[in-house]
Amino acid sequence: MVERLGPPLDEPIFDELAIVGAGLIGSSLARAARKRNAARRIVLADHSAETLTRAEALKLGDEATKNVAKAAETADCVVLCAPVGATESIGRNIAPALKTGAIVTDVGSVKAAVIAALKPLLPPHAHLVPAHPVAGTEQSGPDAGFAGLFVNRWCILTPPSGADDGAIKKVRALWEAVGSNVEIMSAEHHDLVLAITSHVPHLIAYNIVGTAADLEEVTQSEVIKFSAGGFRDFTRIAASDPTMWRDVFLHNKDAVLEMLGRFNEDLTALQRMIRREDGDGLFALFTRTRAIRLGIVALGQETHAPDFGRPRADGNGQGS
Ligand code: NAP
Repeated sequence: MVERLGPPLDEPIFDELAIVGAGLIGSSLARAARKRNAARRIVLADHSAETLTRAEALKLGDEATKNVAKAAETADCVVLCAPVGATESIGRNIAPALKTGAIVTDVGSVKAAVIAALKPLLPPHAHLVPAHPVAGTEQSGPDAGFAGLFVNRWCILTPPSGADDGAIKKVRALWEAVGSNVEIMSAEHHDLVLAITSHVPHLIAYNIVGTAADLEEVTQSEVIKFSAGGFRDFTRIAASDPTMWRDVFLHNKDAVLEMLGRFNEDLTALQRMIRREDGDGLFALFTRTRAIRLGIVALGQETHAPDFGRPRADGNGQGS
């Protein structure tokens, strides 16, 4: 299944779009926005000279700069695409430069902490509309991005109360232009939902791969050799960017700890079923969980195609 972007828009949504952080998500957004003519001009800003050189070589935008404030100065919309932990320092840099009516949005996997960091910093003449495209891969950097990343994936907007309707419409239009389905919810609800669908699964993956690496009875080469028995799928998730995921757990602490508490209770119940040889209990749970997977496939968020670790024809990754 190859998922494609639509044709270029007749009229761009923004005159100038500034993307801060030219990594996987920022470079994918730049590529998709360019293909769809979502902005007349695209400026990329990043603190890494090496990333900016790649952004120029890949022709991701019209300009690439290390000066984040300069990139924000003339922008109608600034999209923060750096790890969540950098939000406050980027906010401090761009706030004095923002022009009247400028929209500030982001792509962070955590939302309440982003609003808490940005809202006090932004001037009253700018509009804050945070967003989270639930699309990604375990790779990072400008070379890992691709224009189709957001096609048929969800993007969640979490405008704070009193956010400007016109600004919300424009951010929605941007994400729809790059192929996403858009949903609006509160930042707190977003953080709870994503804690169970993304953050706790990543933590489990990091933990199981760490446990296997520390085993003494099973050698590292056996773990690698026989990884197809389920472990391999965890290693893909556990290969995700350490900076990004450190920041996610530090900035969504409460929701992650809440979901982890429930997970631990359910794991204890499973342990008991195994100890008591409760085959019916195990069978009933596994039947219920299989239905969830079928629901995800039915919604077009995954395919039925068996995955034996071979390259996927559609080039699509699952997101965080
Ligand atoms: P990435 O590939 O590592 O890109 C992040 C880029 O931001 C890097 O080029 C990084 O440079 C740069 N950066 C870091 N601090 C900066 C600063 N203070 N000023 C300017 N640039 C800065 O990461 P990503 O996967 O695109 O993730 C970016 C954001 O998207 C995160 O907030 C993440 O939560 C969110 N997100 C990620 C996914 C996913 O699956 N990856 C999905 C949805 C949302 P250096 O590498 O040189 O530090």
